[in-house]
Amino acid sequence: MSDDILVSVEQVSRFYGPIRAVDGVSFEVRRGEVLGFLGPNGAGKSTTMQMITGNLAPTAGQIKIHGIDILDEPKRAKAEIGFLPELPPLYKELNVDEYLTYCARLNKIPAAKVAAAVDNAKQRCGLTQMHKRLIGNLSKGYQQRVGIAQAIIHSPAVVILDEPTVGLDPIQIREIRALIRELGGTHSVILSTHILPEVQAVCDRVQIINKGQLVLSDTIDGLSRRMEGSSVLVALRKTVELDALGTLPGVSSVDALGDNRYRIHFAKDQNPAEALVEKSVQQGWGLYELTPERMSLEEIFVNITRTDEAATETAA
Ligand code: ATP
Repeated sequence: MSDDILVSVEQVSRFYGPIRAVDGVSFEVRRGEVLGFLGPNGAGKSTTMQMITGNLAPTAGQIKIHGIDILDEPKRAKAEIGFLPELPPLYKELNVDEYLTYCARLNKIPAAKVAAAVDNAKQRCGLTQMHKRLIGNLSKGYQQRVGIAQAIIHSPAVVILDEPTVGLDPIQIREIRALIRELGGTHSVILSTHILPEVQAVCDRVQIINKGQLVLSDTIDGLSRRMEGSSVLVALRKTVELDALGTLPGVSSVDALGDNRYRIHFAKDQNPAEALVEKSVQQGWGLYELTPERMSLEEIFVNITRTDEAATETAA
C-alpha cells in the first residue's frame, strides 16, 4: 500500500560543480522498517540525508516524506521527520526537561501538549530518571539518548539517525541499538553508519552507496544469503589427487593449501559436503575437518565498493 511508503526518493541527484555527490539515487522506506545506509567516506550519505531532511535542495529528482513533496511543502514534510545529526544540537547548560521542552516548542507542539510529549520522549529513551540533570553532565550514551529524544519528540513518521553509536562504550551501544529497533516498530528509521555489525543487528534492509550511486539494496535476509559461502575448507589424513575432489558433484575448483588441506569451491546451492563425507569414508581419506566458509558483511562491502572503484578506473 502506497500509504505505507513513508520515504520516497526518486532519481535524486546533487552536483557540486563537476562533483556528482549523489547521482540518480532512488529508494523507498516503508512504515516499520529500519534501513541501514552504508558507504565509504565521501560516498554521498550525508548529502542524501541532508536532502531527505530538507536542508539541501536536490539538483534533480523528487523526495516525498509520507507522501508530501519536500520542495513543494517543506514545512509539512519536515514536520514528519526527526533527525539526529552526527553532532547532535545539544545545549549542555540546559537540563533534560528544559532542553526537550525547548525542542517541543521548536517543533510547534501546542503548549497544552508539550509536557506530555516531553514525558513520552523521556520514557521511550530511558531518560525519566535523568530529567533534572544538566545535559553537559550526562555520559555520552545518555547525551545520545537525549539526541534521539529530540528527534522523536513530535512523533515524526520518519526518524533519521546519523552514526548514532559513534564514541559509545559497548554497553551504551547495545542500549542505543535496542532503542533504535524499538523506534523501528512505530516509525521508519534510516540509520547511517560505518559499523557493519550494527546494520546486521538492527536493520531490516541495507543499501550501500558508492560514488553517489546505490550499488546494493537488499533485505538483511537477502544479505545473509549473499554471505553464504561458496567454499569449504577440508583437512584429510591422506594425500589425495586434486581430481578426486574436483570431480565431486557441484565442485568448480579445488585449491591445495598444503598439509593435506584443501579449499573446495562449489557452484551456488551445490555444497558437496555430503558427497565428500561419503567418498572419504569409502576411500578411507580420513576426513577430520570440514568448515564452511562464509563471507562477512565487511567483505561484501569491500568487494562491492572496491569492484566499483576498479570498474571506474578501468573505464577512465
Ligand atoms: P562521510 O562518511 O565521510 O561523511 P559521505 O558519504 O557523507 O561521507 P558526502 O559528505 O555526502 O559523503 O560527500 C559526497 C561528495 O560530495 C564528496 O566527494 C564530498 O567531497 C562532496 N561534497 C560534499 N559537500 C560539498 C560541498 N559543499 N561542496 C563541494 N563538494 C562537496
